[in-house]
Amino acid sequence: MLCDLHTHSTASDGQYTPVELVRLAQERGLDVLALTDHDTVDGLEEAVQAGERAGIRVVRGIELSAREYPTFHILGYGFDPEAPALSALCRELKEGRDRRAPRIIAFLEEQGVHIPLSEVEELAGGQIVGRPHFAQVLVRHSYVSSNREAFDRYLDTEEFLRRVERPKPPAQVCVETIQAAGGKVSLAHPYQIGVDNEKLEAIVRELAGWGLDAIECFYPQHTLEQRDFYLSLVKKYGLHVTGGSDFHGEKVKPDIGLATLEVETDWLLS
Ligand code: AMP
Ligand code: ZN
Ligand code: FE
Ligand code: FE
Repeated sequence: MLCDLHTHSTASDGQYTPVELVRLAQERGLDVLALTDHDTVDGLEEAVQAGERAGIRVVRGIELSAREYPTFHILGYGFDPEAPALSALCRELKEGRDRRAPRIIAFLEEQGVHIPLSEVEELAGGQIVGRPHFAQVLVRHSYVSSNREAFDRYLDTEEFLRRVERPKPPAQVCVETIQAAGGKVSLAHPYQIGVDNEKLEAIVRELAGWGLDAIECFYPQHTLEQRDFYLSLVKKYGLHVTGGSDFHGEKVKPDIGLATLEVETDWLLS
């Protein structure tokens, strides 16, 4: 079974629609694809239906950002997308993003960077507005030459994180909301939390206490040492392994294609 359990579509900040994404997964020869858009379930039914037509098992997923660290992402899988608490959380997070958008524009203005909010919103297509949308508009207007540079210079600076960040739920709320919707929970790309191994283990122990199911051990940017450490935590805390590419499309993340991972997915698909 070849799978990619971490991907994004136009429902959040990915380049391809859910249907296009399933098509790409089919071309790549995947058996299992999870769509894990940021803070939304809006692309899931379209993806599941396209998967049925293409003979690919599409797992309903989501990626939530927790507040304890600048990048602390929690993946949910196989939940009921209409569960009330999850719907309420997604609504709240979308509102936080919509309120952040004009503040990002103002933050950029202060630095002599002028891009129209309308263009960012048009790119987002009325769905989740993410920093990658701003990055692409900054490239279009020649303020930077790549999305990477947009993040390095403007959208992921200390000042940005201090002044423009959006409200995020505590990790425990992320975990429990996914569980209450009947889903499984995996800790996404642990290296991005940016803590040492000892601290990371403490985080995993705490998450496991709340019912964490898995750790995303396989991720393009993980070193072999990191991967092995995460696999050792999986073993120690009796968890499952997940893995994915974090595919957003080449316009968003030029160097990341769909993964073809062989990980055990029976626990996710049952
Ligand atoms: P948001 O949730 O809208 O604040 O933005 C998160 C998105 O921005 C994720 O898809 C990340 O992949 C992307 N992102 C965050 N930091 C960076 C960075 N330094 N370089 C490139 N992409 C980033
Ligand atoms: Zn993203
Ligand atoms: Fe993430
Ligand atoms: Fe992601």
